[in-house]
Amino acid sequence: MEREIDLKQISDGKFYLANDMVKAGCNDCAGCSLCCQGMGSSIILDPYDINSMEKGTGASFEELMQDKIELNVVDGIIQPNIKMQDKTVGNSAMNSRDDRENTRCAFLSEEGRCSIHSFRPGFCRMFPLGRIYEEGNFHYFLQVHECPYPGKTKVKIKKWLGLPELPKYENYVRQWHYFLKDMQKIVKETQSDAVIKNINMHLLQQFYIKPYGDDFFLEFEQRMKEERSVFMHGTGS
Ligand code: SF4
Ligand code: SF4
Repeated sequence: MEREIDLKQISDGKFYLANDMVKAGCNDCAGCSLCCQGMGSSIILDPYDINSMEKGTGASFEELMQDKIELNVVDGIIQPNIKMQDKTVGNSAMNSRDDRENTRCAFLSEEGRCSIHSFRPGFCRMFPLGRIYEEGNFHYFLQVHECPYPGKTKVKIKKWLGLPELPKYENYVRQWHYFLKDMQKIVKETQSDAVIKNINMHLLQQFYIKPYGDDFFLEFEQRMKEERSVFMHGTGS
């Protein structure tokens, strides 16, 4: 999601790469699940997240849609996000400001632990780190006001993310981000609501609903190439 942010106010003012150390360690979140609650629709899921979730839980996209994820329009493009549920009755809740304080991630267990920890979304892996994109690339940055754990320890970002094939993953993240930006531009310039809807349904199908085989990155790359040739005449990465 495009956000207008003043990095000076929310970060330590530094940019990081995967091999850098950063003060983000929070003792395995012992006893805390604050950032898994009241997050509204902000935990946006990319195709890698959905693929990992499907493989990890054994549930299809449609099954996840029943109560774990939901769809929202982000800068003109429909994308899934983690669904927050009402804390008391386990129903999904509206994302108004009042409701935000009473909601929790659909994957948060009664004990306050993430039930999909080993295949949790990229957003959750990074937290409290974020990504900032510039000139076809991105850096990590540390959000200093997001996690209240005192006495944070230094961790290597690579280890913090805990992802196999990190260079491939980071390359994929870059491609997806800039593809979305290009598609947002196309949608913005499209007058017809019906055409916008068709584009969105097509992208959802191609990148999220159609299952991936064993080599996610290779298949994603192929699908990306096809979509770029359809929408952008083969331009970009
Ligand atoms: S707020 Fe910090 S300590 Fe609490 S769950 Fe999130 S990352 Fe862990
Ligand atoms: S997926 Fe896991 S880490 Fe992410 S918000 Fe839900 S419970 Fe928390």
